[in-house]
Amino acid sequence: MALKTGREYLESLRVRDLDARYLGEKVVDPALHPVIGPSINSVAATYDVAHDPDPTVRELARARSEHPTGAGGQGPGRPAPEGEVINRFTHIHRSAEDLVKKVKLQRVLGRRTGSCFQRCVGWDALNALYITTHEMDAALGTSYHRRFLRFLAYVQSEDLVCQGAMTDVKGDRGARPGAQEDPDLYLRVVRRGDDHIVVRGAKAHQTGALSSHEIIVMPTLALGPGEEDYAVSFAVPSTSKGVVFIVGRQAADLRCLYDPPLDRGNPRFGGHEALTIFNDVEVPLDRVFMCGEAAYAGRLVERFAGFHRQSYGGCKAGVGDVLIGAAALAAEYNGVAGASHVKDKLVEMVHLNETIYACGLACSSEGRKTPAGSYIIDLLLANVCKQNVTRIPYEMARLAQDLAGGLVCTLPSARDLASPETGEFLLKYLKGVPGVAAEDRMKVMRLIEHLTLGRGAVGYLPESLHGAGSPQAQRLVIGRQAPLEECKRAAKTLAGIA
Ligand code: SF4
Ligand code: FE
Repeated sequence: MALKTGREYLESLRVRDLDARYLGEKVVDPALHPVIGPSINSVAATYDVAHDPDPTVRELARARSEHPTGAGGQGPGRPAPEGEVINRFTHIHRSAEDLVKKVKLQRVLGRRTGSCFQRCVGWDALNALYITTHEMDAALGTSYHRRFLRFLAYVQSEDLVCQGAMTDVKGDRGARPGAQEDPDLYLRVVRRGDDHIVVRGAKAHQTGALSSHEIIVMPTLALGPGEEDYAVSFAVPSTSKGVVFIVGRQAADLRCLYDPPLDRGNPRFGGHEALTIFNDVEVPLDRVFMCGEAAYAGRLVERFAGFHRQSYGGCKAGVGDVLIGAAALAAEYNGVAGASHVKDKLVEMVHLNETIYACGLACSSEGRKTPAGSYIIDLLLANVCKQNVTRIPYEMARLAQDLAGGLVCTLPSARDLASPETGEFLLKYLKGVPGVAAEDRMKVMRLIEHLTLGRGAVGYLPESLHGAGSPQAQRLVIGRQAPLEECKRAAKTLAGIA
């Protein structure tokens, strides 16, 4: 059955040999690595949710494959036959209802992990490529869609995690890819063989780099004539020769090395990103989904970005739920839960968080069918969703810190709590309301610190700002999609202007 458990997913990672580095050392087993392991747990949650005891959650996490591929898959397994139950994270959206379920599932997982669970990027890449390869084949007579369907069948039948690699390192932002001092600053094709291509470049900020089985590469911007070498999309296993991952640091990441785990805030779950190098990587042609069709690069980028801007309406609202809960607990433990300004700040946090979620649902409900048969979100609403996400979590973080008080950034360590010399002092002087242990009060302060200042803030704050495109990228699409003429017509009619 094409539906693995979290445990089976963890086992699938054990047998790989990734070329991955962190703090100058090779990462031998990401799942057991003290700093990277929590982010692998978050991805495992995307598997476990498909076996959830709650039937509503289980139903959200499951879908049916609708792509019979007689041609067979691209790996050791068999292709998922039509109608087979698959994990929704590998599904192509077949209705507006599917798009809504996506956002609901992401909220459930955001709430359960309090972190980035990493699997949406590849999911969004699959959906964007499904539409764009179909479009290229129809217009140009290429065979990208058929190739892509074979890859999709492999991903679905093996229940794989894909990472979506879009963001090039870009060098001089004022220069086009070909005008850079170093032409490798945008990933490009450097050689073409009879049955393969060779690519070189780097993709930045790769979410879930070490937790994925496959990397789906896409161009980073709209391209034009003369930029064909940069118009390339393909999939390669993460273990491919020439692929090197250099994991990024996160604030307070080394707290994972110290016990007891209280200081970590969210000891079990996390996220990670890496700079991914493609050092002359050979890609077989049956895994190439765009090669030289510069005119289609922009459409692929816009669709992928649209899907991922929808995603944030679910996941960030789920993490927001955790922050609201932590802020409410902090207020309770501090003994101020009844104060009217405290209640009002919690109301404000809920209002802000539901605004994000409402945008995610709205762009999904307004989704429409594409010529490929799959569904895509309403692009204007998806971009409005993400534009809100660039601001709202920062205000939520401010409110949570306000409610928590100064302890959120001055709290002594878990080791001092465990020390026979200082532990008693901390238990005595860090106590809040009667009936709540000082240690529990410390835990909730650490969780707020984690989400607003520590490792968790990477996913909740700057990623909300820059992930799926920085704020200005959404404003460009909003400007293009804005129904200004319709608005003007409505105003003229009411004002009596002929
Ligand atoms: Fe998914 Fe959110 Fe992480 Fe993006 S940031 S991969 S949408 S959980
Ligand atoms: Fe992201």
